[in-house]
Amino acid sequence: MPDMQEFVPYEETLLYRIRHSAAHVMAQAVREIYPDVRFAIGPPIENGFYYDFDLGRDEAGAQRHFTEEDLEQIEKRMREIIKGKHRFAYKEVSAEEAKKLFTGQPYKIELIEGLERGEVDEYGNEVKTRPVISTYTQDTFEDLCRGPHVEHTGQIPANAFKLLSIAGAYWRGDENNPQLDRLYGTAWEKKEDLDKYIELLEEARKRDHRKLGRDLEIFIFDDEVGPGLPLWLPNGGVLIEQLEAFAKEVEERAGYVRVRTPHLTKEDLFLRSGHLPYYAESMYPPMELEGVRYYVKPMNCPMHHKIFGSKPRSYRDLPLRLAEYGTCYRFERSGELFGLMRVRSMQMNDAHIYCSVEQFEQEFMGVIALYHQYFKVFNIDRYVMRFSTHHRRGLGKKYVNNEDLWVQTEEMVRRVMTNGNVPFVEVPDEAAFYGPKIDVQIWSATGREFTLATNQVDFAQPPRFDLTYVSAEGKDETPLCIHRAPLSTHERMIGFLIEHYAGAFPAWLAPQQVSIIPIADRHLDYTRQVERRLRDAGLRAEVNDSSDRMGNKIRKAQAMKIPYMLVVGDREMEENAVALRMRSGEDRGAIPVEEFVAYATGVVREKQYE
Ligand SMILES: [Zn+2]
Ligand SMILES: [Zn+2]
Repeated sequence: MPDMQEFVPYEETLLYRIRHSAAHVMAQAVREIYPDVRFAIGPPIENGFYYDFDLGRDEAGAQRHFTEEDLEQIEKRMREIIKGKHRFAYKEVSAEEAKKLFTGQPYKIELIEGLERGEVDEYGNEVKTRPVISTYTQDTFEDLCRGPHVEHTGQIPANAFKLLSIAGAYWRGDENNPQLDRLYGTAWEKKEDLDKYIELLEEARKRDHRKLGRDLEIFIFDDEVGPGLPLWLPNGGVLIEQLEAFAKEVEERAGYVRVRTPHLTKEDLFLRSGHLPYYAESMYPPMELEGVRYYVKPMNCPMHHKIFGSKPRSYRDLPLRLAEYGTCYRFERSGELFGLMRVRSMQMNDAHIYCSVEQFEQEFMGVIALYHQYFKVFNIDRYVMRFSTHHRRGLGKKYVNNEDLWVQTEEMVRRVMTNGNVPFVEVPDEAAFYGPKIDVQIWSATGREFTLATNQVDFAQPPRFDLTYVSAEGKDETPLCIHRAPLSTHERMIGFLIEHYAGAFPAWLAPQQVSIIPIADRHLDYTRQVERRLRDAGLRAEVNDSSDRMGNKIRKAQAMKIPYMLVVGDREMEENAVALRMRSGEDRGAIPVEEFVAYATGVVREKQYE
């Protein structure tokens, strides 16, 4: 039996209610300390909650902000409110009543006006149906809110919540709006869960790819280049080259062929694919030359479709698997950018598989097998596939309007995954525009969750591009298209790998594999010979010939997480040997140079992790 889990929406869990209630209690505590605070929004989020506040200006006219001491005081007051076991009382109100209730609260008034017009909910998110306006009151604090909450404040575990940090956030995420103070907190059902989470946060902070990316000289961002556009330093260059070489090797073995496509394309192509106008918000605006509009591409698919359609195809050509590490550009709002995880330029481990309906199962399982192969090499042992399906109500708007094809395709994917014992959860109403989608969620060594890769089944694009092949019976048929990117983008994958390995990459990926350390100047010539020998064997080795003391050189190599350090003194020089130290600190003593070469090249070739 495949491990099919029931998907319980977060909104329906006890944790969600605890966190939401904690946000309200925090807001009450804040108002008691800063009576003229203005409230924005305070939703539960993954692992906790936040609330955005505007503390107004001080006598000198400067914007007031929270301090670390405030956090302690707020936390203390929250515990008292929790002890009071105040009920969370629900009330529906008219827009008029709501506006009266929130006099002097401009952000709430703006939200109420949005609710009144039926455009947004109390978090400012777009809604389709006109919602009722409601409030929740606990103790002395009333908030615009639709719930849900716990019954009374006493149900928030007083020893299992903590305020974490103060951050800046723009009202409605728009940098033209006032900047607010966002207080982040976390809350759990019991103290052990909180302790575990705090420990995890500490570990995650140490592994943060933005910090390690800088420390290990992997990538940078530059103001004049622009946000979300990473510059890969030489060490990052090695990581990219290695990943790409690995992907090519795996894909070639699996029968893929490689193509290359330009970064720019005429508008016509994206009109044909349907990305325009629907996807325009995520695309950079067009440029016009000689009366023709061009876009930088946000995805590679339409160009691959053109390659499929570039000559008559027969069933003998199928499956056709076109692969490309394609560079794409997508516009993400400044507020959404995050290290390498959310960027504006990206290179994707992309491929499109064109196949017949009969070939679908085998091709689809072939893609799943690729994932497993990668998971094994990268020591990823926790993952789940999220199978996103359509919903009738989105047909013609969010989804291609063909209910029969949706049902058929989804049924086909479900059957294949069930037969193949692939663990998955089904998530309704989150499919791609043109077909059901599988997102692969993986967990790093510290348990941080990442959504890496997607795998999509597309029945809509091939007909839009008039793609056909001649079947064995001599009939024109439309192929199915599988979009897949198991290694995600270089940006996201390397961001993930940095955190997963805490920067200590396996030897095959490590930007520098060997640091050769002469003890004294008289060992320099010999270390250069060793360097030559190692490089000839394909190892990325370098002599540290700086004037640092040996101890310092070892510390530096360890700080850069270089897998192997070879220390050379008189004895090693005499015996044509090196003293091998591992980055873990383990000292393996003197070994002949050739023995080290055989050992290290073996580890690299086998992609072992040590
Ligand atoms: Zn609320
Ligand atoms: Zn695609």
